[in-house]
Amino acid sequence: MPELPEVEITRRGVVPHLAGQTIRRVIVRVPKLRWPVPPEIARLKNRRVISVGRRAKYLLVELAGGHIIIHLGMTGSIRVLPAPRPAAKHDHIDVHLANGKVLRYTDPRRFGCWLWSETADHKLFANFGPEPLTARFSAKYLFEKSRKKTTPVKPWLMDCRVVVGVGNIYASESLFRAQISPKRRARTLTLADCQRLATAIKQVLRQSIKHGGTTIRDFLGAEGQPGYYARKLKVYDHAGEPCPRCGATIKKITQTQRSTFYCPKCQR
Ligand SMILES: [Zn+2]
Repeated sequence: MPELPEVEITRRGVVPHLAGQTIRRVIVRVPKLRWPVPPEIARLKNRRVISVGRRAKYLLVELAGGHIIIHLGMTGSIRVLPAPRPAAKHDHIDVHLANGKVLRYTDPRRFGCWLWSETADHKLFANFGPEPLTARFSAKYLFEKSRKKTTPVKPWLMDCRVVVGVGNIYASESLFRAQISPKRRARTLTLADCQRLATAIKQVLRQSIKHGGTTIRDFLGAEGQPGYYARKLKVYDHAGEPCPRCGATIKKITQTQRSTFYCPKCQR
C-alpha cells in the first residue's frame, strides 16, 4: 500500500511534467473508484495546472478554479506517458495535456479516489492533525497532545487527528528508532521521549522519501506501474529475527487489528 513517502515520491515525480501545463481533456473510463468520480472531473478542459501539492496521503492538483484531490488507495499509481496510447484493463483515468503527454491513473483494486473541490480545504481534511515533516509537528506538540491519553502509543500515532501519514509500517519503525515500546500508554511519554519520537518519525519518513526517490523507476513512460521501491525496514516484518541494535528477538503483536513489530529488550 502506498504510504506517505510513496505519495510524496509520486508528487515529486509528476510535478515537472504537470506544473504550468494546460489540461486539454480528461477521460474517465471507470466512473466509480472508492467513491463515484464527480462529473466535474470529466468536464475539465483548457485549465492550467498551477501546482501539485500533498495533504497526508492525498495529492492536490491545483488548477485555475479548483482542485483535483487524488488518493492512491491500496493499489493506485500514476505515471506520465509521452503520448496517448491504448489503455489496459486497470487504466481508469487519463488526463491529456496540451504538450501531448498523458497523466494515467491505474488502480486494479479501485480503492483510490478522484474528487473535485473548489477549495484546497476539503471536508476530508477537517480533522487532520499536522503534517509530520513540518515544524508544527514537534516534541512539545506530541507531549501536549498525549496528556491523559490512555491509548497505547502505536495506535495513537496512527490516528490522523494526532498526525497524518504515519501508517502501520512507519509507526513501528519510528518507535523502534526512538526506543519506545509500542505498548506504552501515550500519556506516559515524557518530553524527552516525545523529542526522540518526533525526530525519529521525521528521519524515518525523510530517509524513505530519499531512498525511494533514488531507486523508483521513472514516472515518465515506464511500462506498467511505476515500481515502488523495496523499503529498508529494521523491525517491520522481521519477527523472530535478531534486533539490529541489541540482538534480542523481534516480536510481533497485534494492536487494534494491525501487526506491530518491536524489540522487547531495547524499546521501553
Ligand atoms: Zn533491541
